[in-house]
Amino acid sequence: MRLGAGENWDEVVAWTIEHDWGGLELLSKIPGTVGAAPIQNIGAYGQELSKILIEVEALDTKTMAFGAVVNDACNFGYRTSRFKTTDKGRYAITAVTLKLNKDQPKPPFYESLEEYFKDNGITSYTRQVVRDAVAAIRSAKLPDPSAVNNNGSFFINPVVGKELADKIASRYPDIVSWPTDDGQVKLSAGWLIEQAGFKDIHDPATGMATWKGSALVMVNERASKTADLLAFKKKIVDKVNAMFGVNLQQEPELLP
Ligand SMILES: Cc1cc2nc3c(=O)[nH]c(=O)nc-3n(C[C@H](O)[C@H](O)[C@H](O)COP(=O)(O)OP(=O)(O)OC[C@H]3O[C@@H](n4cnc5c(N)ncnc54)[C@H](O)[C@@H]3O)c2cc1C
Repeated sequence: MRLGAGENWDEVVAWTIEHDWGGLELLSKIPGTVGAAPIQNIGAYGQELSKILIEVEALDTKTMAFGAVVNDACNFGYRTSRFKTTDKGRYAITAVTLKLNKDQPKPPFYESLEEYFKDNGITSYTRQVVRDAVAAIRSAKLPDPSAVNNNGSFFINPVVGKELADKIASRYPDIVSWPTDDGQVKLSAGWLIEQAGFKDIHDPATGMATWKGSALVMVNERASKTADLLAFKKKIVDKVNAMFGVNLQQEPELLP
């Protein structure tokens, strides 16, 4: 399915489900446009754009040539791509082609989805059921950006070596983590921040806060400068680093 870059991402997700196409239901309710989706390889609940993207069409502002960049050439990774790193600002994406499917969603699902289905007695998994579950979990966990000043998850889940992950797990047996395909371990940034005492924290010095439903989300309550945000971020990063030896990386782009 070829989608124009200016389309609203979640409207596209809803449209595909309405028209009996699968593949996007787990990516429901991610704010933004289709054209921005490949930049950080949007992902949620175990799905990632890179798993279903065939190619992007883009204007290469270096050569002024217009053409396709196929999946393998996008250098996708966890919340990253060449468009965010080596070729940042170079390509203006005009369309995205995705490979959708006709399959109905099947278990096993991401842990929080499994829990939601169990708690709500859901045993039949249509695409719409999955979309509704994702929407319900997200709205319980994440603040609505039109009502609360935030930009979603502020930190990327850090990927660390097995040795460090084991060391942390020996001290914190309830650690939230996932093995990666290359033998490393992805740690839940939200869990690390929560352990560091930063869930639902309201910082009078900076006017910044972390969200009650997810410590991963930073909220601007009354900060007026970027310096306030960066000072609050530093408090979190320093504390997590001191406790776990893990350096948290920022997910959103900082504009000059
Ligand atoms: C409440 C909330 C929840 C979120 N949840 C998730 C989540 O679950 N998973 C996830 O992955 N992300 C999530 N995000 C992040 C965000 O939704 C994505 O990064 C999204 O793709 C941003 O879209 P945008 O249109 O707002 O892009 P912008 O923020 O405007 O732009 C992002 C970057 O992409 C570039 N860009 C945008 N369009 C194009 C184009 N056509 N061609 C070339 N470059 C372009 C911009 O220059 C910029 O560098 C969340 C954000 C919020 C606020």
